[in-house]
Amino acid sequence: MIHHVTPLLPSPALSGRTGADVWLKMEALQPSGSFKLRGMGNACRKAVERGARRLLTSSGGNAGLAVAMAARQLRVPVTVVVPRRTDARMRELIAEQGATVEVHGEVWDDAHAHALELASAPDVALIHPFDHPDVWEGHATLVDEVLPRVVPDAVVVAVGGGGLLAGVVQGLRAHGLDEVPVIAAETVGAASFAAAVRAGRPVTLPSIDSIALTLGARTVCERAVELARQHPILPWQCTDEAALDACELFLDDHRVLVEPACGAALAAVGAAPHTTEGVVLVVVCGGAGVTADRLRSWRTG
Ligand SMILES: *Cc1c(COP(=O)(O)O)cnc(C)c1O
Repeated sequence: MIHHVTPLLPSPALSGRTGADVWLKMEALQPSGSFKLRGMGNACRKAVERGARRLLTSSGGNAGLAVAMAARQLRVPVTVVVPRRTDARMRELIAEQGATVEVHGEVWDDAHAHALELASAPDVALIHPFDHPDVWEGHATLVDEVLPRVVPDAVVVAVGGGGLLAGVVQGLRAHGLDEVPVIAAETVGAASFAAAVRAGRPVTLPSIDSIALTLGARTVCERAVELARQHPILPWQCTDEAALDACELFLDDHRVLVEPACGAALAAVGAAPHTTEGVVLVVVCGGAGVTADRLRSWRTG
């Protein structure tokens, strides 16, 4: 197993403020700083079992870091193609894991197109950051860890490309929890899931306008939209400012620093439907792309 079993903590602070019995699945404490190690770890392991001798991914964010860590554990070489927009700190974190970091293009789409070209070489497996059954299967393990102790009346997750959402919903349904509503939190400027649910199919946002870059997939995966037809999934949005407020409050409440992407999920607690009573589980998705300094600079713009 490449990921760690993370703590499941009660939140007296969030419970007191909202009236719900709030529990936190602390994915911020994965070695990679986010839940991504679950899905990427599973996808990398399976790719190697199927014969891959080299791994490749196109994410300059938490998925790239998780793939680099997984490859290291599996003892296979890995190339992480990142766009120029990926900051130096994240590139360093990825390189520290022994990965080859290739910078290509301005935004993720350019980096991904380059990765697709490299992926045609033999023995190479391209690991997608959110759109693959092995990724969803890995993310679903977080639900398996929660249920022996806590059965939620509602679950809150942040949504970028929809991989986490797909995994969590898959996990709930595997345990017969077909009726448990899932709140799908996004920032207003990165609401590609809400747009997809409205349209009934994935749509591509013209641009992303949010500090929550981790939520900035312009198009969500088809699977997330398909699940929204089978399971009660409620899109919910907040401003960047509300996500930042939630990050700061969480830092004071639990002394853990998380990305604004995760702040969007935290902001939903007490504000979104189904989050003011009963047992509410929040997936504290975390994120390695934040520092105390960064949090301050987002605040001042
Ligand atoms: C990747 C990520 C998300 C979004 O996950 P998707 O599977 O792309 O929907 C949210 N928060 C953090 C910290 C992430 O790394």
